Amino acid sequence: MTRLSTIIATADDPRWARVVARDRTADGSFWYSVATTSVYCRPSCPSRTCNPKNVTLHATLAQARATGCRACRRCDPDAAGTDRTHPAVLRACRMIEGAEDIPALRALAAHVGLSAWHLHRLFKAATGVTPHAYATAHRHGRVRHELGRATTITDAYVAAGFGSGGRFYSDADAALGMSAGRYRDGGSREDIQFALGVSTLGHVLVASASRGVAAILLGDDPKALLTDLATRFPKARLTGDDPAYRTVVQTVIALIEEPAAGLALPLDIRGTAFQHRVWQALRAIPVGTTLTYTDLARQIGAPAAVRAVASACAANPLAVAVPCHRIVRADGGLAGYAWGVDRKRALLQCERAASIEPCSPRRSTGSRR
Ligand SMILES: [Zn+2]
Repeated sequence: MTRLSTIIATADDPRWARVVARDRTADGSFWYSVATTSVYCRPSCPSRTCNPKNVTLHATLAQARATGCRACRRCDPDAAGTDRTHPAVLRACRMIEGAEDIPALRALAAHVGLSAWHLHRLFKAATGVTPHAYATAHRHGRVRHELGRATTITDAYVAAGFGSGGRFYSDADAALGMSAGRYRDGGSREDIQFALGVSTLGHVLVASASRGVAAILLGDDPKALLTDLATRFPKARLTGDDPAYRTVVQTVIALIEEPAAGLALPLDIRGTAFQHRVWQALRAIPVGTTLTYTDLARQIGAPAAVRAVASACAANPLAVAVPCHRIVRADGGLAGYAWGVDRKRALLQCERAASIEPCSPRRSTGSRR
């Protein structure tokens, strides 16, 4: 059926007339996917009728899902009822969709209680593709969808359900033809630009990869900051002499002087999925407000992970831009700060004052760690 639908133009397929008519009696007998919006629908979907050139008709729900498209929110095609796909195939599809890595055929077969050969045959008959091709299409669909709406690459891969940037970028390569391969393997062959500057909080080192600011480090000793940068990006080519990059540093220093103004630069945040959850929650804390580690753990839905949350805060590579300084102890104490407790105090004082009038933090003499 998949092959047939690519040979017959959708506009000439009798099923298309039922879509145009929003025929409810057609629901459950076929589905359609729309290439331009990456969604699949049931025939009676109330959305505006789209150009049939962008539409593929599918005999089964599993075939529609095998495109990697998402279920339409308006017509809820997954709930459309009488899909006759073999339940073992449906269970295999759900397992693939829920897994971060593409499951091995043997694991899928064991999960649904069939032999690998039998599942492969049933799967291909129901979906028109192999389990591996289904999994690949599904992952690519997620990547495209999330990249279309996320503001940063990091947001996209966390939302797409990838536990690590490496896996996401390797999928993005295939899904988008992006040259993201150099992001794999801890940034090997990656170009990182950096520059040093001075703020009222002392020396600042700002470093960017091609996608955005990847590190903002604060300290008293520029040499120590450079060593820190080299440790964080051990395989990257570090370039520190581009005069054009100084404007980026100036923008970051402006943020440090006045955190309430926000940072209008893209960020390229590297970390584990858990760290990303913590850092995103940090970015949602308003200027002038503080939370405790316990609050933050609760906010990311991991109330028991207070210690892990504290470690993620300590591992934050983007001082001020990811405001880990807004986390305090339950008794109101400042707790630690990777870039020195004095800097943390100065930042918090400034932010508290900023809700009354704009300010600049006092010069701090705090030392790192
Ligand atoms: Zn729809």
